[in-house]
Amino acid sequence: MNALLQTHLIDDQHLLAFPKFKNVDFAPAFEEAIRLARTRLDAVANDPAPPSFTNTIEAIEFHKEELDKISLIFFNLLGANTNDELQALAKEISPKLAEFANDLLLNPSIFARVKDVYERREQLGLDTERMQLVEKTFKAFRRNGALLSEGEKEKLREIDRQLARITQEFSDNVLKATNAYLLFVDDEACLKDVPKSTLEDAKKTATEKGRPDAWAFSLHGPSFGPFLQFCSREDLRRELWLAMMSKGMKEPHDNRDNAIQLASLRHRRAKLLGFESHAHFVLEERMAGSPQKVKQFMEDLLQQSRPAAERDFEELREAKKKHTGKNDLHPWDVALYTERLQREKFRLSDEELRPYFSLENVVNGVFEHARQLYGIVFRERKDIPVYHADVKAYEVTEESTGRFMAYFYADFFPRASKRGGAWMTNFLEQGTWEGKICRPHVSIVCNFTKPSSTQPSLLTHGEVKTLFHEFGHSLHSILSDCRYASIAGTNVYWDFVELPSQVMENWALEKEGLALFAKHYKTGAPIPFELIEKIRKASTFMAGWMGVRQLSFGFLDMAWHSQDPSDAQDIESFERSQMEKTLFFPPVAGTAMSTSFTHIFSGGYSAGYYSYKWAEVLDADAFEFFKEKGIFSKEVAESFRANVLSRGGSEHPMELYKKFRGREPDPRALLRRDGLISEK
Ligand SMILES: [Zn+2]
Repeated sequence: MNALLQTHLIDDQHLLAFPKFKNVDFAPAFEEAIRLARTRLDAVANDPAPPSFTNTIEAIEFHKEELDKISLIFFNLLGANTNDELQALAKEISPKLAEFANDLLLNPSIFARVKDVYERREQLGLDTERMQLVEKTFKAFRRNGALLSEGEKEKLREIDRQLARITQEFSDNVLKATNAYLLFVDDEACLKDVPKSTLEDAKKTATEKGRPDAWAFSLHGPSFGPFLQFCSREDLRRELWLAMMSKGMKEPHDNRDNAIQLASLRHRRAKLLGFESHAHFVLEERMAGSPQKVKQFMEDLLQQSRPAAERDFEELREAKKKHTGKNDLHPWDVALYTERLQREKFRLSDEELRPYFSLENVVNGVFEHARQLYGIVFRERKDIPVYHADVKAYEVTEESTGRFMAYFYADFFPRASKRGGAWMTNFLEQGTWEGKICRPHVSIVCNFTKPSSTQPSLLTHGEVKTLFHEFGHSLHSILSDCRYASIAGTNVYWDFVELPSQVMENWALEKEGLALFAKHYKTGAPIPFELIEKIRKASTFMAGWMGVRQLSFGFLDMAWHSQDPSDAQDIESFERSQMEKTLFFPPVAGTAMSTSFTHIFSGGYSAGYYSYKWAEVLDADAFEFFKEKGIFSKEVAESFRANVLSRGGSEHPMELYKKFRGREPDPRALLRRDGLISEK
């Protein structure tokens, strides 16, 4: 047997045996794990006994446990501590994993058994979690075409092939159009407010292109964003903005037809699978449930936030008038005057705040939140094996009973072997392994400011929120009490998964929450109240405007995906007609959003853009409940734990939420938090 598998990954003290994992062991371990899984699937398919929950649904759930364990470890290391060998192996192994997963979903004998159990599910006396597993398993087959005839299946595969090809073309076009454009500026005076690092990059790019006398700005975020925020010349801002908004609108990187094709193919695919539209197909597995619900949700929010957005618009127009004497406002002005207003109003620098947020204090603070809210404690243990010297490991237990809850790893600082960003992940999911219910191994990985020789790691407030956010995801796993890993912890519907993380960020904006940890790293003095107030005000600045902007993208997404899009011949007029109620500026010919809207056309957000606002509503509404009873209310925290954090995806999220809140989420909670409405 393979060395990696032989360690059973976990030693007798329930610890992951990190030092024993060698790069060379992964490939044979994957092969062996896939072989074991295939053998078990064959046994399910050829089982002479009649299909039952245990011999079919549970057998499928458990058939690849070695593979699941190795995959988690492998892909976590690939992201947080990679090397050339792991990267080469990932390229080799990923298609094999995809093929293996697909073989299961295309196996007719197994599907026949799943369908049999599914059809009799009401008579089997299953509890909620088992019922959820039956439905989830059946849907996975059905959504992959298992109910279709052979001819229809071939059609589905053909659509999938076309979708894959056009999706790639769409994103290639956006990238090429982005790379094909540069704006050269030789007027130094108009760039005086642009941040130094952006200017240095712009100078470097221009010099490489043979224009050392100028600065070159591109359509990439780190160049485009600051330019629109800080360049004082309107004609140049307009030029860059026009280039940005006409991406994918003309040859040789024309995406107009690709957008229509993608939406049409998705529509045909959904129809073939028995759904009214692509949005119906997607939303079947979302908390929101249906396009009607999503549209109603967005309409409600829009109606309430449009007046605030109009006030923001007026404020921006006034600001421009004050600076230039001009009465008009254009889309290429928005970033500049937003930035100026923000500077005038809040004058808040990261450097002013950092001394109050030493990493050590913030980490202890977040643990203290978990103790006060959920009664769990974190104890650092230096004897727990880790995958890199920077990683700290903790044992998490319940304070009152001593019950073991999880191992928790924290990996905070950037290094060459780690990808950028911040995320939470599991090295072992909570759920059943080797026949018994196990506690999870949870990890958060960040890229925070490193300590220097003279001072400790000092975070920005943004980084503090990031830590609270990822910690919130961690709690979803640490407190999970489910039977099946595939529906435990954070394995929930996509528009529900950000509730535990985002709600946690709220404590990092509250006086009582900050009081637990925001102390000057040298003097120990608590953070001044005025600074907290400034942070809070800055966090809702232009909330109406930004909210309506997000909604406009949500409406556009639903327009493409909740109806037959084949009659949308002209992208510009289609967009106008679908987004009209959210727009503030007259149309600019030759520009559109859809042709470079990679989120929905090549990034997995199709019929899902609304979820940004949806998640905000959930967290605002949930936190309002805490605020009503006190933000450290045991009663509310216990209910949140019992109905949300411990339940994973073992029941429909809307049901879980209603059990916690007593009703469905209220969009007005978000508007109240953003200060857009005041009444209850
Ligand atoms: Zn998140």
